[in-house]
Parts: sequence; C-alpha cells; structure tokens
Amino acid sequence: MLLNKQEDMHIHCNYNDHSDFDLTASNIIRVAEEKKLTRIAITEHVRKSSDWTEKYLEDVNSQIPKSRVKILLGFEAKILQDGEIDCPEEYLCKNYFIIASFHTKYPKEQWYSSLIEAIKNPFVNVIGHLAPEIGFSLTDSEIEKLGNLLIEHHKIVEINSKYVRPPIQFINIFKSQGVSFHLGSDAHSLKDIGDFNRINHLINLIEK
Ligand SMILES: [Zn+2]
Ligand SMILES: [Zn+2]
Repeated sequence: MLLNKQEDMHIHCNYNDHSDFDLTASNIIRVAEEKKLTRIAITEHVRKSSDWTEKYLEDVNSQIPKSRVKILLGFEAKILQDGEIDCPEEYLCKNYFIIASFHTKYPKEQWYSSLIEAIKNPFVNVIGHLAPEIGFSLTDSEIEKLGNLLIEHHKIVEINSKYVRPPIQFINIFKSQGVSFHLGSDAHSLKDIGDFNRINHLINLIEK
C-alpha cells in the first residue's frame, strides 16, 4: 500500500493554548502550498466546552476559496472513558473531519472498550496516534479484533509523526488485514507541516 506524502491529515491551529501563535489558517495554507502538499486536514483540539469553535470554523472556511491545497476541516477530539467523543454534538455530523485520539491515560480494559466505541462512532473518520499506554500491551488477537472493527466501520488509522505511532506490532497486523492508513504530522508549528521524516521507517513498513 502506498501512502500519499503530499497529504497531511492532522494539523492544529492557534486556537488551542499550546500551538505556535503564527499557526494561523492562512499561514498553514501558505506553508502547505510551499511544500507542494495537495491535501491537508485542519483539525484543532476540541472539547464539548470549547467556546471558540464557530470563530475557528469561520476563519478556516474564509481561507478555503483562496487555497490551492484541498482542505478538510474538522477537529481532533479525545476519547472519553465511556467511549464517547469530547466534541460538541453539532459537529458530530458528516460535514466535519473528526480524529478521535486518547489524551487521557486509562487502564487497559477501559482503554480497549472505549476505543471500540470510538471506532463504532459513525462520525469519527480517523483514529489518531494509536498506541497502548505505558504499562500494558495488546495481544495479536486483541489487535486483530480492532483491525476487523476498523475495516467494518471504515476508519482510517493515522501514522503520526509527532508521536511516531502506532507501534510496529499494530501496523504489521493492520496491514495484513487491509486496514487503511494515512499520514498526519500533528503539527503544532508551521515547520512541522508535511514533515514525515521521523516516521520514514513506518512508511517503509507499510509500503514494502
Ligand atoms: Zn492528539
Ligand atoms: Zn493532534
């Protein structure tokens, strides 16, 4: 399977409290064009309580007509302990590109069951930076079960260059099952956009 290195499907914006201040929608698009990317996803961190979301959507939407790069607009939302997604209901619809990721440590049982719920969520497009927490691992058959669900529910597994994830064990099993992958830099600064150098070995593993 070939991965498209001209697509960066996980880029943050400066609406969160920890990205570079110059990570604006217009700068993201300019840098993506300079780097000859063809498609990007702008996926700011969201919570159910976020109060900046309308401004963010308006801001990015106003830039889209000027962009030579195709843009998907959405959010990265964390997977909650019951498998719900920490995203305001109104954005859980087909109009937005949603990455579901773990940002809280759960014990294995809870991690596994909440992940299964996230995979089944019809409004989630991608599982971001997937990896077990330090302190537990998964058996091959536990990973295979996830792979089957990912395929059944048409989810993409992100190959994330910020965290260098998923682990090779996951990638090998998912690849053998035919799970779909794409690349995400998880950029929190302009220089990170479209930079997949840290995951060259994972890209090679998938493409070989
Ligand atoms: Zn994340
Ligand atoms: Zn992220």
